[in-house]
Amino acid sequence: MQKGQIRVHTENIFPIIKKFLYSDHDIFLRELISNAVDATQKVKTLASIGEFKGELGDLRIDIVINKEDKTLSIIDRGVGMTEAEVDKYINQVAFSSAEDFLQKYKDANIIGHFGLGFYSAFMVSDKVEIFTKSFKDEPAVYWSCDGSPEYELYQVEKEERGTRIVLHVNEESKEFLEADRIKGILEKFCRFLPVPVYFEDKQI
Ligand code: ADP
Ligand code: MG
Repeated sequence: MQKGQIRVHTENIFPIIKKFLYSDHDIFLRELISNAVDATQKVKTLASIGEFKGELGDLRIDIVINKEDKTLSIIDRGVGMTEAEVDKYINQVAFSSAEDFLQKYKDANIIGHFGLGFYSAFMVSDKVEIFTKSFKDEPAVYWSCDGSPEYELYQVEKEERGTRIVLHVNEESKEFLEADRIKGILEKFCRFLPVPVYFEDKQI
């Protein structure tokens, strides 16, 4: 079990992210699906050059709402991440790039037009969890962060390769627990993606 502080200077960047992206909240879903697509394309490429020799399996992306738990999950069967990769790409790179980005565009009033990457998940979430298993022969890991600069990262059981991002949707964003709202976003965004996206087990 590892506990740590995310390395950013701003005490808490999430309220800023929420405020500046207020008008375009649904971009969080596009960002997370883009990451799932990237991860899936990576595993396909690795297989084609012989660096990944296992079964690719059913390469699809699933979006699932759980109304009881108030969660929205984005699930892929892509490359996944090792513990070291979560530390590097989520704790270090993504947080600091989110901060750099905010510094740069804070005054320009155009922030909503740019992608913020993984951290846009905090626009609509009280807490974000990652369950991920790399295609490499390494243990699966769990990461969670409740919007403060503290995160948790430890090994878990997960058989399937790939990543599940679980958003604990906050009260003011509860529209994103409505099937029609999510379907509307997916129908706009997912039509031309190279990986099939399923919502509640139906292909978009
Ligand atoms: P970007 O996509 O521009 O690199 P993000 O903030 O969206 O920035 O994501 C940061 C990094 O986290 C990605 O580059 C990737 O290494 C990792 N990552 C995020 N989501 C996933 C995922 N679903 N599967 C595997 N790696 C991921
Ligand atoms: Mg991204």
